[in-house]
Amino acid sequence: MMQAKRPLTLLLASPRGFCAGVDRAIQIVETALEKFGPPVYVRHEIVHNRFVVETLEAKGAIFVEELDEVPEGGKVIFSAHGVPKSVPAAAEARELIYFDATCPLVSKVHIEAGRLHERGLQILLIGHAGHPEVIGTMGQLPERAVTLVETLADVEAFRPRDPDRLAFVTQTTLSIDDTAEMVAALKARFPNIVAPHKEDICYATTNRQEAVKAIAPRAEAMLVIGAPNSSNSMRLVEVAERAGCTYAALVQRATDIDWAALGHPHTVGLTAGASAPDVLVDEVIAAFREHFDVTLEMAETVRESVQFKLPRALTGE
Ligand code: SF4
Repeated sequence: MMQAKRPLTLLLASPRGFCAGVDRAIQIVETALEKFGPPVYVRHEIVHNRFVVETLEAKGAIFVEELDEVPEGGKVIFSAHGVPKSVPAAAEARELIYFDATCPLVSKVHIEAGRLHERGLQILLIGHAGHPEVIGTMGQLPERAVTLVETLADVEAFRPRDPDRLAFVTQTTLSIDDTAEMVAALKARFPNIVAPHKEDICYATTNRQEAVKAIAPRAEAMLVIGAPNSSNSMRLVEVAERAGCTYAALVQRATDIDWAALGHPHTVGLTAGASAPDVLVDEVIAAFREHFDVTLEMAETVRESVQFKLPRALTGE
């Protein structure tokens, strides 16, 4: 006789998944493919998600690491994370046609860093070394104009040129709580440090972390759909752990779920990073239905309505 499935409540965080910047970046690649026909080159993963990359590859996008892989006359798109200034300059020097899919909220940080630099301030960037967004933001300014600080120890060890001529900006996809600690430490050491006009951590990162915090106290476990190189997805796992989930894990797809490690929970929270498409959320829910008698519950903390326009050069509008 078939055993009855255990009941399980699946708490679906909302907002979750695609943000306006990711949506726009994907639309830029799709519109370029429609307008010019394949191939269209994309420098780096357009967003940190294998599924999205493979779907665009199937439509004729070719992903490259560097511009020199793009042939003469090629059309190339820069990813949502932003690029150092040297990249569009190199594209222009080679007369490549390029479209910049940098999220407008990342561009805002670039502009801000530029203005602070013009004021003669030494800039600290709170972020993660090696992340494309950090490379892009640091690459807006001359070498050594921006100092990266990743940890409280980095803040402690930092020796400014002038402690009264400092400013900071941040990566857009950081942990809100960790960043608040870093900012507090910076302000404690350098009371005159200039803060960004408006919070650099973007609305999507903030809302997804808040949504996880809201459901974590009710969930024994939390699954985050996203890629290991997606900063905002990794932060969601940390937020869930800190909010009390005994088990929190990142999964790229349903096949990654470790059912044995998950055990026999009564309530599981489910969310997705800003670069994970909804089709993967559906896939994970379907996998849960195979293992459990699932009751799906939406847990909406805020409704998002942010949308960004595509570049005029692409739409002709
Ligand atoms: S996570 Fe935020 S900054 Fe990054 S693409 Fe999305 S909206 Fe833009």
